[in-house]
Amino acid sequence: QLADSLFIINNFARDYFVQTMFDTEEGQNVGLSYFEERGFSEEIVRKFQLGYSLDKRDAFVKAAQAKGYNQEYLLKTGLIAIRNELPQDNYRGRVIFPIHNQSGKVLGFGARILVKSDRAPKYINSPENDIYVKSKVLYGTYFARHSIDRLDECLLVEGYTDVISLHQAGIENVVASSGTSLTTDQLRLIKKYTNNLTILYDGDNAGVKAALRGLDMAIEEGLNVKLALIPDKEDPDSYVRKIGAEAFRNFIAENKQDFILFKLQVSLREAGNDPTKKSQLVNEIAETISRIDKVEDFTKQQDYIRQCSQLLKIDEQGMVTLVNKYIR
Ligand code: ATP
Ligand code: MN
Ligand code: MN
Ligand code: MN
Repeated sequence: QLADSLFIINNFARDYFVQTMFDTEEGQNVGLSYFEERGFSEEIVRKFQLGYSLDKRDAFVKAAQAKGYNQEYLLKTGLIAIRNELPQDNYRGRVIFPIHNQSGKVLGFGARILVKSDRAPKYINSPENDIYVKSKVLYGTYFARHSIDRLDECLLVEGYTDVISLHQAGIENVVASSGTSLTTDQLRLIKKYTNNLTILYDGDNAGVKAALRGLDMAIEEGLNVKLALIPDKEDPDSYVRKIGAEAFRNFIAENKQDFILFKLQVSLREAGNDPTKKSQLVNEIAETISRIDKVEDFTKQQDYIRQCSQLLKIDEQGMVTLVNKYIR
């Protein structure tokens, strides 16, 4: 019941923000222009149901009240908040990205500020409630699922705009973690469509670290994880616009590498000649390999044992023993 009400309100809000962007002067001059300047086509803006919230105190509040929506429910959606004892709009003068579930219903919103500011966060996202549970959602699933199915591969990016730009470039098998680290529930969502996950995170340290954090979990879920690092200072959105769709596809194809071997190479570089660090690393890799399901993926596990022992310059049989030690 509560869930239904929240969906109804979000549905209304989505339409309201779209209409505000296309049918008001402020919406066109500020919201739509922003997307145009970013290079988003009207077609893609319409497809993702992007919108705009007026820079006013209570424009949305009034529209929602006119529809007779219950204030308690409105507060739960995070679309409004009580300030100075009055209901007020939470998103003001921001562009709006609706977040859909797998069947296209609106779970919540991401609202982006137009101009960078020290005083306000770049994105304001919906709070968690009965329908929006962050750890279970991947942005873009609704638009990506058929393509993921068909290509038997899911690309994972960090942000809303990465998903949208890649779609515009004709790459549709892509979802976003929306800046948080991956969860088991999100990996299971991907697994409903494919076993093949390719992570396209920023090439900076934060991007690599975030990607590595999800690795063991992903392997445990039986996913084959590959990784292509986007060059420093770029993200998939900026990079695909910079080099074009064709070159972007080639870049991914050429730079896609196996994630376990990537992790090993990064760690080997860090460990250098330090024997303590190296032995710690051998143990970590053995544990990672142990997470591959031996029953389902026996040859895969053997392949990794062989390749990793070679890279580590250690005895293969010793690695087998160590891996078995970690199998629970
Ligand atoms: P843009 O290109 O518009 O700057 P982006 O997606 O590249 O957006 P990033 O800073 O790379 O933005 O962040 C990646 C994702 O993390 C965002 O798409 C958003 O989902 C989430 N995010 C970023 N900043 C915030 C924030 N201040 N609060 C909540 N979520 C955020
Ligand atoms: Mn980054
Ligand atoms: Mn970006
Ligand atoms: Mn980014």
